[in-house]
Amino acid sequence: MRKKIVAGNWKMNTLVGQGKVLAEELNAFMKTYEMPDNKTVIIGTPFTHLSTCVNVVDTNRIHVAAQNCSQFEKGAYTGEVSASMIRDLGVEYTIIGHSERRQYFGDTDEVIAAKLDQCYVNGLAPILCCGEKLEEREAGRHFEVIESQLRNALKNVSAENFCKTIIAYEPVWAIGTGKTATPEQAEEIHAFIRGLIAKLYDTNAANDTTILYGGSVNAGNAANLFAQPDIDGGLVGGASLKANDFISIIKAI
Ligand code: PEP
Repeated sequence: MRKKIVAGNWKMNTLVGQGKVLAEELNAFMKTYEMPDNKTVIIGTPFTHLSTCVNVVDTNRIHVAAQNCSQFEKGAYTGEVSASMIRDLGVEYTIIGHSERRQYFGDTDEVIAAKLDQCYVNGLAPILCCGEKLEEREAGRHFEVIESQLRNALKNVSAENFCKTIIAYEPVWAIGTGKTATPEQAEEIHAFIRGLIAKLYDTNAANDTTILYGGSVNAGNAANLFAQPDIDGGLVGGASLKANDFISIIKAI
């Protein structure tokens, strides 16, 4: 059975001390919360917070993610952080191909494919993001855009590696805008992505893949989104920075 996941993306927010407090608050809640085996909570922190967060949470109950990794293995790449460095801290996941990285940092499909490869080689599970811009949706190109992003990212990914991958559908127009996709709009794309995975791999892979929705998920809308048959949880930005809001979203899965 595929996993249900709530993953927080803290983006470039909080200083280490504040992140530590947030991680501790979530950890205190998770200690008392009966979480079924098929449900997972992840916090995606800045690089500078990873080590602290791995150390303050019970990593059987809260898993830690980075928000990026280098497409290169090691060497003369000033300012970069490799997948092996991240894994070495005890971090299990990393977000790859977030729309903010595509938009501001030149993460092309080719770069994203190279980053995925680094994740698999180094034992990090990628949360691979895809999503269309507003103008692409308005032009009716959303299915085409998602298909192209996923086909390009996964071109060289074996079935064995693919099964370690979480997909996140994040319409760019819904990220940080307060404009959530309706559960029906999100479900339509999630079902499409599952169909595409069946074509690229097989039906078992499609059924086993966790597909998260991201884009202004909050305590009020999470339950309706997660009730859709192909929405297996959320990638949550703004609402993951407040312990109480994130806890409500965790309860919604
Ligand atoms: C995100 O950063 O992945 C995201 C979905 O942000 P928000 O929840 O703030 O829209």
